[in-house]
Amino acid sequence: MEYQKILEEIYREIKPEIGRGKVADYIPELAKVDPGQFAMSIVTVEGKSYNIGETKKRFSIQSISKLFTFTMALKMYSKELYKRVGVEPSGSPFNSLVQLEYEHGIPRNPFINAGAIVVTDSLIDHYKDEFITLENILNFIRAISTTPDININPYVAKSEMEHGYRNRALANLIKSFDNLHSDPVVCVETYFKHCAVEMNTQELARSVLFLANRGTDPITKKRFITPTQAKRINAVMLTCGHYDASGEFAFHVGLPGKSGVGGGIVAVVPGKMGICVWSPALNRYGNSHAGTLALELFTQKTKLSIF
Ligand code: GLU
Repeated sequence: MEYQKILEEIYREIKPEIGRGKVADYIPELAKVDPGQFAMSIVTVEGKSYNIGETKKRFSIQSISKLFTFTMALKMYSKELYKRVGVEPSGSPFNSLVQLEYEHGIPRNPFINAGAIVVTDSLIDHYKDEFITLENILNFIRAISTTPDININPYVAKSEMEHGYRNRALANLIKSFDNLHSDPVVCVETYFKHCAVEMNTQELARSVLFLANRGTDPITKKRFITPTQAKRINAVMLTCGHYDASGEFAFHVGLPGKSGVGGGIVAVVPGKMGICVWSPALNRYGNSHAGTLALELFTQKTKLSIF
C-alpha cells in the first residue's frame, strides 16, 4: 500500500481541523504548547517508516506512558497484577475519585490515573526505590523505541506536581484501602515524572512495534513480553485506551490505541505496524481532536481496522 500517499491525503483533509479543541491547561506547562501542530508516523513490521508533519518534534507523552508501565508490571507480576487493578472500561473521566471509593480502592483499569498510580506503585515495590524505578522505566522506553536519549522534561513534571491535588487524592484514597505500598507522595511524583517523558511520533510509532508483533520487536528480534501478554495489552488498549471515549474510538477507528493529554495517540495494527499521531488540541474527552480524526481517516482509507 502507498502509505506515504495516504499520509499526505490525510494531512490535506485534516488541515482545517488542526488546532480545533483545547490544549490541556490543567498542567500549566502544557498550556504553553502551540495547538496548531500535527505529526503522524507509521513504522511497519518490515521496518519501513512513513512520516508527515512535525514528526521529529518531541512532546509530552503523558498517559501514553501508562502503556509502558503497564507492560513492565505485567511482565513482572503476570496475572497477580489483576488483584490490584482491573481490566474493565471505567466509563468515567480519567481522574475520577467516585468510582474508586465505590470499588474499594481497586482501580478499574491500568489506563485511568488511579490504575496507573497502582501500576507505578507495583514497579516501586519491585525496584525498592523510586529513582531506580524511574531509571528502569526510561530504559524500557529507550529499549522499545531503540532511542537512547529519551528523557523526562523536568518543567512539565514540576508543573504537574504543583497542581496535582487530584492525583494525590487518588493515591491517598488507594492507600486508605491498602492497595498502595509506597508513600503516596513518592508514588505520585514518580507517576508525574514518567508522564513527563518526551518523545516524537517517529519514536512512539517505533516503540509500539513489539505490540504489533506478539511481544517481540520484529526488527531487532528482542522479545519484550509473551504473545499472550501482548494480546492482553492490545485488548486493554482497545477497551480502555481513550478514557470514556474508548467505545467511540473502537467504533470509529477500530484499533487498539492509547492517548495522552499532550495530544499524542499511539495505535497498533496487529501483525502490520505501529502508528503515532500528535496534535495538541484536545476534544472534550481529553483525546487529540485532529489525531483521532486522522486515525479514523487512516483506517477508512487503508481498511486496516481489526474488525
Ligand atoms: N499526567 C496526567 C494526569 O495525571 C496524565 C493525564 C493524561 O494524559 O490523560 O493528569
